[in-house]
Amino acid sequence: MISGNLREKTMDTKAFKRSLQHSENYHRKGFGHQAEVATQLQSEYQSNLIQEIRNNNYILQRGNVTIQLAEAFGFCWGVERAVAMAYETRKHFPSERIWMTNEIIHNPSVNQRMVEMEVGFIPVEGGKKDFSVVEPGDVVILPAFGASVQEMQLLNEKGCKIVDTTCPWVSKVWNTVEKHKKVDYTSIIHGKYKHEETVATSSFAGKYLIVLNMEQAEYVVNYILNGGNREEFLAKFSKACSAGFDPDKDLERVGIANQTTMLKSETEQIGKLFERTMMKKYDPSELNQHFQSFNTICDATQERQDAMLGLVEQKLDLMIVIGGFNSSNTTQLQQIAVERQIPSYHIDSEMRILSGNRIEHRELNGNLKITENWLPDGEIVVGITSGASTPDKVVEDVIDKILQLKATAVVV
Ligand code: SF4
Repeated sequence: MISGNLREKTMDTKAFKRSLQHSENYHRKGFGHQAEVATQLQSEYQSNLIQEIRNNNYILQRGNVTIQLAEAFGFCWGVERAVAMAYETRKHFPSERIWMTNEIIHNPSVNQRMVEMEVGFIPVEGGKKDFSVVEPGDVVILPAFGASVQEMQLLNEKGCKIVDTTCPWVSKVWNTVEKHKKVDYTSIIHGKYKHEETVATSSFAGKYLIVLNMEQAEYVVNYILNGGNREEFLAKFSKACSAGFDPDKDLERVGIANQTTMLKSETEQIGKLFERTMMKKYDPSELNQHFQSFNTICDATQERQDAMLGLVEQKLDLMIVIGGFNSSNTTQLQQIAVERQIPSYHIDSEMRILSGNRIEHRELNGNLKITENWLPDGEIVVGITSGASTPDKVVEDVIDKILQLKATAVVV
């Protein structure tokens, strides 16, 4: 059994990755079934209605409802690539046992399809993954947001066939933290310490500290400039730093990295804050000896955030943000609507739209809430977007449900 948070630091992670990539049991490209799989994916996840709305300048007008879609939403190429590779894996290994170390992406309908294809998830007991179910010769798929180096090592030692669907943008961040490690800089990772991507990224880092937001970043820079209560610092980041982290020594040289799905503007602000802090603490001419910044945010996240920022500028009666409840980039989109004080509902499928004009949705704090009378009477403009793990088909189902409800309301 291995903990998802297990972080050994003795391993030469770079050398391990290099040797793994040369192993015949390691696959990170498809298996030549692309055309077949593309047809299957098209029928299961694509939507003619959504394509029609895209072609119509992202607007759909039906009765007293105007649907305004964001100009970028839904499946990003990294997710499409990972899902396609998982389908190809099933075709290529029709009789082998296939496992996934985590959900392939953060979307319930896609993960349900994996289960139907008899792709199993590594069981989790008491917060720990139980890899004892995996036997030599089994196939194990690593998801789009990657897996920790310790998990890869364990699966390699077990003699599994590893299909690595890690998005190249995520690998890029791993390269960044490897670079920090090489020059003995501490990686300041803007992310959520429990998120699988950040768990994986930190497994490749040397010294690291994970900050969730500006508030935590400000706490850290204040410590850098003015010192502070060491015990309080260590307690605050007990789950979010490398083993043996010493805030009095390990914050002298820092580099920035991020979970690729965090709000880009916030990552940039955090980067600037550390840059200014290092200039203040040391001579500006020495900045390069104390600070390294890399732009590791992926284009897809940025495009969806920009499109959302454009959408909320329009006159909307409400917003629907569609995506898995554990999808970080979907939560970031929801945050934008909440900041603009637009009534906004984060749902993961049309099933959350309940009878009696009620909707069950996830709030920013993670709680599920049922709101009554959420769909206003009369003419309405509904803004809709979806996270990078959400198939168009799910968006279509939500739109259909809204149109049905409004049509029924008119008749009544
Ligand atoms: S959101 Fe970006 S990093 Fe994540 S899978 Fe998509 S393209 Fe890759």
